[in-house]
Amino acid sequence: RRLCKRLPKVELHAHLAGCARLATITELAGEIAAPGARAHAALGKLTLDECFARFGAIHRALSTEAALKRVAAEVLADFAADGVRYLEIRTTPRALRDVDARGYVCAVLDSIGKFERDAGDRAMVVRLLLSIDRSGPIARADETVELAHTLRAERADARRLIVGVDLSGNPSKGRFVDFAPALARARAAGLPASVHCAEVEDHAEMDDVLAFRPARLGHALFLSAAHVEALRAAPIPIELCPTSNLTTLRRAHMREHPTAARWLLDDLRTTEAYPVSISTDDTGVFGTSASAELARVALELRLDPAHVAHLAARGLHDAFEPANSREMLTLRARCARDATI
Ligand code: 5GP
Repeated sequence: RRLCKRLPKVELHAHLAGCARLATITELAGEIAAPGARAHAALGKLTLDECFARFGAIHRALSTEAALKRVAAEVLADFAADGVRYLEIRTTPRALRDVDARGYVCAVLDSIGKFERDAGDRAMVVRLLLSIDRSGPIARADETVELAHTLRAERADARRLIVGVDLSGNPSKGRFVDFAPALARARAAGLPASVHCAEVEDHAEMDDVLAFRPARLGHALFLSAAHVEALRAAPIPIELCPTSNLTTLRRAHMREHPTAARWLLDDLRTTEAYPVSISTDDTGVFGTSASAELARVALELRLDPAHVAHLAARGLHDAFEPANSREMLTLRARCARDATI
């Protein structure tokens, strides 16, 4: 555990609102204090639907620009304090009580800018993905992609910080194919997509996702033999979220985690490891951290320290920030230096 805390880590799959501190959400909304306070006790029992009910409660509490900026500042500080050195945070633009969706993204950009000024990019490189909610209207997905273009055209910080898009939201609602055109437009404009997939069993939808070939896959839990074969032949990096997945799958141990059992146990011990990165998903909702997720994988799968160090920074290869940018080159050198066991 101490090693996992100390190692420089890369976090590619973290939802801003899902990473809000429970205490902050409880404070922001007295009316949801009771469910918030019960959250930890209920952690082991959260179904996917209960998770989405929780996101609804968090969104109700996170209802002003000031609250959003506070949560963003805390989330960045928490990841940096946990030893994350490259963070891609993702969030779904939406209107709050006092700002529209554009104002929402600007508030997040401002918060990242403040973190950079206060902590410096030596502490942690932060990049932003704009999320598309598959349970929402397709028109909103188009607006989100449009917003990314507009902001990148107008603001130098947006051009530097917004590096991709994400498709997330309740997997039992909406269809991937309906959102694929928006994702394709984003990709054509230089914004790659990370797509949540196979969180529930739907092999036909997974066929569509693989045909699209997103830059990264989130979760990828329920795969058919044909999907596994296709991915082995032409890998797409997978963002693995251990505690989140085991919680919603109601399984206790990493060896029962379908993605880990298939891609990590088979491959991590060989030089031809499948590209997998370890992520938290929602530190607040699942009561976890980047180092806790890494320790869980390391301890339960009995990985040796060299593999743990490799896995901690594995995601750098799959980051949406260009590999040859100044920040990335510096970061890679720093991670290599600090990952000595
Ligand atoms: P936000 O985008 O508001 O910053 O973060 C919360 C949102 O992220 C949720 O409302 C949901 O759309 C998405 N999200 C968080 N965790 C998960 C997950 O495990 N699966 C899926 N499909 N979406 C998630």
